[in-house]
Amino acid sequence: MANLDVVVVGAGFAGIYAVHALRSSGLTVRAFEAGGGIGGTWFWNSYPGARCDVESKDNAIVFATGFDAISGALRQIDVRGASGVALADRWATGPRAYLGIATPGFPNMFIVTGPGSPSVLSNMALSIEQHVEWIRDCIGYLSAHGYATVEALPDAEDAWMAHVTEVAYSTLFPKADSWYIGANIPGKPRVFTTYVGGVGPYGSKCDEVAAAGYPGFALGAA
Ligand SMILES: Cc1cc2nc3c(=O)[nH]c(=O)nc-3n(C[C@H](O)[C@H](O)[C@H](O)COP(=O)(O)OP(=O)(O)OC[C@H]3O[C@@H](n4cnc5c(N)ncnc54)[C@H](O)[C@@H]3O)c2cc1C
Repeated sequence: MANLDVVVVGAGFAGIYAVHALRSSGLTVRAFEAGGGIGGTWFWNSYPGARCDVESKDNAIVFATGFDAISGALRQIDVRGASGVALADRWATGPRAYLGIATPGFPNMFIVTGPGSPSVLSNMALSIEQHVEWIRDCIGYLSAHGYATVEALPDAEDAWMAHVTEVAYSTLFPKADSWYIGANIPGKPRVFTTYVGGVGPYGSKCDEVAAAGYPGFALGAA
C-alpha cells in the first residue's frame, strides 16, 4: 500500500467528507468501505427520510430493532491501540471518548461523531462537517508544529464523560428503555453517551481546545 497520511474507514457521509476535506488540505488519503458502494446509511437505507441522490421509495418499512447505535460498528472492527488492547475491550463498560473524538491508548485515531459528542441528537451532516474540519485542523496543527502523534489523555476523557453523564442525567433521556441507552441490544452496557448539552456549546468547547493548542491531548514528536 502506498504511504498514506490518513486512512478513513467507511464511506458514508463522514467518510466521503473526510476524504474531500483532508485531500483538499494536501494530505494523501484512502477510504475503505465494507459495503458495495459509497453513501452509507443515507444512500442504502430505503427509509424515505434517509435516502439521498436518488428518488425516495415510498411505503418502505425498516425494522431496525437490532440497531447497535453509537458504538456497534466500531466495536465490530478489531482495531487495536498502541498497547495491543482492543477498542471493544476498552469500551467493555460502555463507549467513551474525549470530546467524542478520540480515546486514550489509540493515538492518531479519530472518531467522527463518536460517544460523548452530540451525534444522533443533532443534524448529523452538520456534526460530521464540524468533526471532520476539527480533525483536519488538528492534523494541520500537528504538521505545522513538528508533532507526529496526538492521543487523548485519560483524565481529559474522564472529565468530559463525567460532564456528558451529568448533563444527560439532568434530562429524561436515560430513563427510557431506548436504543439511546443500548436497551435494544442484550448485554450492552446501559450508558447514555450522547452529549445533550447543545451543539453550540459543544462546538465552542471543541474550538477552545483547538485554539489553546489541544489541552487534554498528548502531542508527540515523530
Ligand atoms: C433509518 C435512519 C434514519 C436516519 N435519519 C436521519 C436524519 O433524518 N437526520 C440525520 O441527521 N441523521 C439521520 N440518521 C443518522 C445517519 O446514520 C447519519 O446521519 C449518517 O448516516 C452518518 O454518516 P456516517 O458516514 O457517520 O455513517 P454511515 O452512513 O452509517 O456510514 C458508515 C459507513 O461505514 C461502512 N463501514 C462500517 N464498518 C466498516 C468497516 N469495518 N470497514 C469499512 N467500512 C465500514 C458502512 O458500510 C457505511 O457505508 C438516520 C439513520 C437511520 C438508520
